[in-house]
Amino acid sequence: MATEDRKHIALISVHGDPAVEIGKEEAGGQNVYVRQVGEALAKRGWTVDLFTRKSHRDDREIVEHTPNCRTIRLVAGPEEFIPRNDIFDYLPTFVNEFLKFQEREGIHYPVIHTNYWLSAWVGMELKKYQPLVQLHTYHSLGAVKYQAVEAIPAIATTRLNVEKTCLETAECIVATSPQEREHMRSLVSERGTIEIIPCGTDIRRFRAMSKAEARGQLGLEQDRNIAFYIGRFDRRKGIETLVRAIAQTQIRAQGNLQLIIGGGSRPGRSDGIERDRIEGIVNELGLSEITTFPGRISDELLPVYYAAADVSVVPSHYEPFGLVAIEAMASGTPVIASDVGGLQFTVKSEETGLLCPPKDDGAFAEAIDRILGDREWRDRLGQAARARVEAKFSWDGVASQLSDLYSRVLAEKTAPVPLKASA
Ligand code: UDP
Repeated sequence: MATEDRKHIALISVHGDPAVEIGKEEAGGQNVYVRQVGEALAKRGWTVDLFTRKSHRDDREIVEHTPNCRTIRLVAGPEEFIPRNDIFDYLPTFVNEFLKFQEREGIHYPVIHTNYWLSAWVGMELKKYQPLVQLHTYHSLGAVKYQAVEAIPAIATTRLNVEKTCLETAECIVATSPQEREHMRSLVSERGTIEIIPCGTDIRRFRAMSKAEARGQLGLEQDRNIAFYIGRFDRRKGIETLVRAIAQTQIRAQGNLQLIIGGGSRPGRSDGIERDRIEGIVNELGLSEITTFPGRISDELLPVYYAAADVSVVPSHYEPFGLVAIEAMASGTPVIASDVGGLQFTVKSEETGLLCPPKDDGAFAEAIDRILGDREWRDRLGQAARARVEAKFSWDGVASQLSDLYSRVLAEKTAPVPLKASA
């Protein structure tokens, strides 16, 4: 396709750098989503620029990913990691730098897709300067999050206001699950346009390889049951529930269980502190012999870990979508997840895994025993899980829905308003 035929789109993710290694520095689902959407759209004929805040002095300002998809790091505030609750003050600079970048490059983005409330604010500001359509994905809703946390940060009021205004004024909000849309409607505003397009996963990368082969590759025991967690070390992820559940399972009492808790962490930072706390509980419950912490798992090995596991556990207190669940399912591994948010959409209880009340370690223990105690059922759940991801959550399908949505919203916005016939 000739360059002039391609439409430009900017995906803005101020605090989640799409070019970093996932599993590092709080990088998780949002980083994966923005990068995957970007690359998939580029294949569909868009010229895609992913904008983020430069958070390390040594990072490159522009990173080319694939043809027509690159990350652009704008300098807004100190070039170092800043926790997301402290970024708001730097957003006006981010907007300025974005405008300067457009001018320098001679590009005008008619469509922007913003991610998380910080970027929502950036998008709403940009709209004051130029015509554009804004689509937004929340990734996390303040109104839901603050129900579950003990200490509400000072930035909460600003965040809640931005999330409400964005819902009411953006051309379209992309909810990633019906549950997320329901929360927007009941807790944020009844106004505004919402479309549901789920997150996706790469069904070629995450595939159902044989357990024997996967375990052989990782040097894991062939006959032992393996329960697997992967994700950020954050209290909201409920890793404590999983550990306490493991301690109560019969399968562990029979001496036939291994627990793998994967994910990167930084000593002294919030994720490092949570990791140490979890390790403390593991030791206290006498589980250290059967628990391993492999740290950040590389992109190459992650599919192998999922395939090697008998069950993947997602014990989050809340999850707007939860990419880990569909990655495990794509790998043919059943998922035991909290009965919350997007996990209620992705995991079909009794068909592709089991759902348990959040924070209920007794229920998680029972679910683990049920699945690990019946290999035939485990395999059936795994096959159904894979089929569900193929049908509903493949990146190709998700990206084509997003591409159609951008084109439609853009066409609606630029179409001449029909004259009203006089009565
Ligand atoms: N991931 C991770 N840790 C690693 C390697 C990868 O968490 O060591 C990936 C994981 O595969 C998934 C993403 O990070 O794609 C986490 O997304 P999810 O939506 O489950 O949670 P979030 O981070 O958004 O809370």
